[in-house]
Amino acid sequence: MAQRVKGLTLRSRVAFVKHTYGSEGMTRLVPNLKGQARELMESPATINSSGWYDFDVQLEIDRAICKVLAKGDASIYLAMGAYSADFQISKEDTSSPEDLRRFLKLQMTMFSHYFKPGTVEMVTVSDNEVLIRIKGFASVRENCDTNMGFLKRSIELRGAEGVTIDEPKCSQDPTAGVCEYRLRWK
Ligand SMILES: [Zn+2]
Repeated sequence: MAQRVKGLTLRSRVAFVKHTYGSEGMTRLVPNLKGQARELMESPATINSSGWYDFDVQLEIDRAICKVLAKGDASIYLAMGAYSADFQISKEDTSSPEDLRRFLKLQMTMFSHYFKPGTVEMVTVSDNEVLIRIKGFASVRENCDTNMGFLKRSIELRGAEGVTIDEPKCSQDPTAGVCEYRLRWK
């Protein structure tokens, strides 16, 4: 089964490029793309937020942003993911760790609708630590970095402080079979 992602993520990339590099960022990006990736970035208004697009198309766009606009700086993937959270989630101070976990749980239900196939589960480790597992979706380094940028920023937008994220298990390792992100805060 071809892996697919929602157009919403592609729209957030367009917004990221314009926000970070101005409209000339899009002009520089387009000649470095082919096929559908090129068509979509040439006419971003045609991107349907709730439509499905090939994961490879998103990956081609993300890699071109890294290579052409960020001059190969791979930290751009975390920044792109964080911007996706800014793009979709409203800022609000959430007081208790319990509220934060409830918010994350709800957020993960939405997150699970952004790609297919695959499922998302959240495991609470302690008051301020959760594990988020994505099963059934074969990821790559760049995608896990944008996911981590997204997850970290999501709870920062809700007032969490001292947030750290890492990935103890990744589906790139065939024996893991899962991407597991560990999210901790103060
Ligand atoms: Zn991974």
